[in-house]
This record gives sequence, structure tokens and C-alpha cells, in this order.
Amino acid sequence: MTISEALQKLETLQKQLYAYGHAMSILYIDAVTAAPPDTAAGRGETLGVLSAASYQLKTDPSVPEMLFFLRDHRSEISDLAGRQVDKLIEEYEKMSKVPMDEYVAIQQLLNTSENVWHKAKAENDFASFAPYLEKVIASRIRLAGYYAPEKDPYDYWLEEHEKGFTTEKLDVFFSQLREKIVPLIRAVGQCPPIDDSFLFHCYPVEAQRQLSDALMKILCIDRGHCSIAETEHPFTCELNKYDVRITTHYYEDNVASSMYSVIHEGGHALYELGGGDALQYTCLAGGTSMGIHESQSRFFENMIGRSRGFIDFVFPLVQELFPQQLAGVEAEDFYRAVNKAQPSLIRIEADELTYCLHIMVRYELEKRLFRGELAVKELPAAWNALMQEYLGLEVPDDTHGVLQDSHWGGGMMGYFPSYALGSAYAAQMLAVMRRSLDVDALTARGELAPIIGWLRERIHRYGSARKADEVLSLALEGEPFDPTYYTDYLVDKYSALYGL
Ligand SMILES: [Zn+2]
Repeated sequence: MTISEALQKLETLQKQLYAYGHAMSILYIDAVTAAPPDTAAGRGETLGVLSAASYQLKTDPSVPEMLFFLRDHRSEISDLAGRQVDKLIEEYEKMSKVPMDEYVAIQQLLNTSENVWHKAKAENDFASFAPYLEKVIASRIRLAGYYAPEKDPYDYWLEEHEKGFTTEKLDVFFSQLREKIVPLIRAVGQCPPIDDSFLFHCYPVEAQRQLSDALMKILCIDRGHCSIAETEHPFTCELNKYDVRITTHYYEDNVASSMYSVIHEGGHALYELGGGDALQYTCLAGGTSMGIHESQSRFFENMIGRSRGFIDFVFPLVQELFPQQLAGVEAEDFYRAVNKAQPSLIRIEADELTYCLHIMVRYELEKRLFRGELAVKELPAAWNALMQEYLGLEVPDDTHGVLQDSHWGGGMMGYFPSYALGSAYAAQMLAVMRRSLDVDALTARGELAPIIGWLRERIHRYGSARKADEVLSLALEGEPFDPTYYTDYLVDKYSALYGL
């Protein structure tokens, strides 16, 4: 094999993997947006065939031969091809550590446990989900043992989602947050509540769709390359850098819900749309980590979208779409309403201030479950106790408590902390950005292009050709990650908002 033959094979392999991924993602998007409800069986057949073909492609003996050959000639190939080889070898080595029959059994377990979770949540029946959750945790521990026998299993899964963040680091991170946020929430709780009742009048969906169009325009998102569909839970799905799909959910009695979903998913979309051309159809396309991705969505949702400047700019537009609902409401009232902080039971509906406490509840419980300090059957009681301790709330039932998120049923353990890290990254990025851009003035004029350009230059264009820690360091101009930026940001914002 010559180097150019191997490079050709590398390119073909990645394009084929991309094509299978593309087809499977389209099936998923179809399933959650347009497909009639009773059509899962046919999609299941196709998905089975496509995922088997994709697996065969990756495990064909000629693949490691080509990859290791290129690694031996690393100095003779481009940096980008070298990074592709490294990433594919990493994946190959991981895959080859797990016996095939065990891998298949785990996939089947996750499928079943996700379905059981759906039903258990709908019926408030934790007991039916518990035996599956036990198996899922045991399988995660076993898998971590195959992948990295020298590591603590929970640390392994934490680092799978955000490299460098083990329990040792996250314990420090979360205690720093808790120290500042908990007293702040208490102080806010003593203040007269903000009146946000006008957000919950009747807001016709058709006009909300027009608001989404306007927001996408402000975010400089080219609708030729990014569409908005409607699903139960909003998400972003990237097919390639020229085809990104976001979704939202319109509630007629809540105008802020979809408004901020669109800005949040728009932030994810901008990251994907801004990837470098050379990364297209390779394993390096797409965001580098969950934490960095979430930093982009939360940056636009909270740091920009919930800022005073942005509301000053966008409010006249919102009022024009909903003149009756917002009659007599001023921009200042709207700003205060969309920033209202109040402890609540459901993570995905939590405000910016209380959100991280929801993550801490999950992190503490995962840690104890993995260490064997907590049995699955004790989980609901432990959940309720922490919700009381952190947020001062009584949990009425498991549907609104321990069963609310899909993550555990789907085996996504160690995933939650990246949501909190993303928020903290975003606050520090904002501080660094302010050194070269007048972010507030730009936002108040609705001119987001320079802000997006700043992020594109330091983050988006790298896709996953750089690891999360490298990207973070580039974005922070070499400064080490420091959660104080985030706690300061929250203290400043909420002190001003509530006159503390
Ligand atoms: Zn997100």
C-alpha cells in the first residue's frame, strides 16, 4: 500500500461513514417530525441494516491496516489527515476491547430500558424502571472496565463527555458554584416576585413562528441551510455544515418558551454551520464536546438573548407581533420577566440562576450510584432529599422528580455536568470577548455578526479537529478555565435585577 492509496482509502471510508450517519439521522428526524405514529417497525428494519453496514465498514480488517500504516507515516501526511487517523484509531481500539456479543447485548438493554423509562415516567412508576436502571449502571461500569481498567468507572464516563473533568475537579467546580448560587437564590427568594404574568397570555402559534423567523435572522442563520421543525423537546441535528436542522415547541400560553428554545438551538446550529470546509464529510466535522456545544447554545440563549441590550432591540419586534398581549408592557418589564428566578421541579424549564442546582442533584446521585453508596431502589428518596436541600422544594411524584430526564434510561451517565460546564465556559468567553468587542453595544443594535465571527474564528471552524481543552484555551486566549467568571456574572446580574 502506498501513502496515496491509504489516504484515498481513508477519505472513502469517512465519506461512507458520513453517508450512513446522514441516512440514519434523516430517519430519526423524520421519526420525530413528520412520520405517522405507528411506523416505527419499518424504520427499525432500515436502521438495523444501515447500522450493521456501518459497523462492518468500521470493523473490516483492512481498516486498522490502513490506519496503522498511516500512523507509521504520520510525518508524511497532512496534520488534518493525521488527526483523522488518530481519532479513528482511538474509536477502533475502543470498539475492539468489547466482545461483540456483549456490545450487542448492551445496545439491546439500552433500547429496552429507554422504552421502559418512557412508560414509567408517564405512569409515575419508578419500580418498573428500577431493575433496568440497575442493569444499565452495571453495564456502564463493566464497559468502563473494558475501555480504561485503570480508571474509576464514573471518572471514565465523565471524561467521555468532557475531557479533564473527573470527580476530583468537578467536586471543586460544583462546590464553588454552590457557595455563591445557594445564598443568591435565598436572597432572591426574599424579594417581591417579578411579575411575568403577561408571558402566559394567549400567543397564537402562527405569530410565534414569525417570531422564530425574525430571531433566526438576528442570529444571522441562513435559512437555506437551517430549518426549524416542531417536536416535543427542542433539539439540533447536524447532517453536515450546509444542512442543520433545529426544532422547537410552541406553547400557546407561553411565548418565552419557544423564543428561548430557538435562540438556544440557534447557538448549537451556529457552531455546526461555522465548521471548516476541510472538515466536511470527515470524522472531524461537528462540535468537539458536549460542554463546548452547550457553551455556544447557552451563550446565545442567556448571555446574549436574556441581556438587557438584546431585549431593548428585540422587544419592539415582539410587541409588534403581539400588540394586545403586550399592551402597556415596557422593554424593562419584559427583560425582568424573562430573567425571573424561581426554584422549580423540572430541569429543562429551570431559569438561568437555579439551573445548575438541578445538575448538581444529578451529579451527586450518579457519583453515589457508581460508588455503590446508593442502591437504585433508594434513588427516589435520595432525589427528593437533595431537591429539598438544594432548591427547597417538595417533589410531589417521581414523574416530576427522578423520572423526568431520559438520560439514565439511555445509558447517558456522566453527561449532565457538561451542561453546567457549558454555562461556565460561556460566561468566561463573554468576559474575554469583551476585551476586543463592545458586546453590549453590538447586541443592543442587533448586530450579532461580529460576535458570531469571534466565536467562529476561535471555536466553530475547528469542528472536532481540536479537543475540547484546546478549543477552550483558544477561546479564552490561553487563560485557564475559572468558574469565578460564571458566579460573578450571576451575582452581578441577579443583584441588579432584584436590587440586592
Ligand atoms: Zn443544548
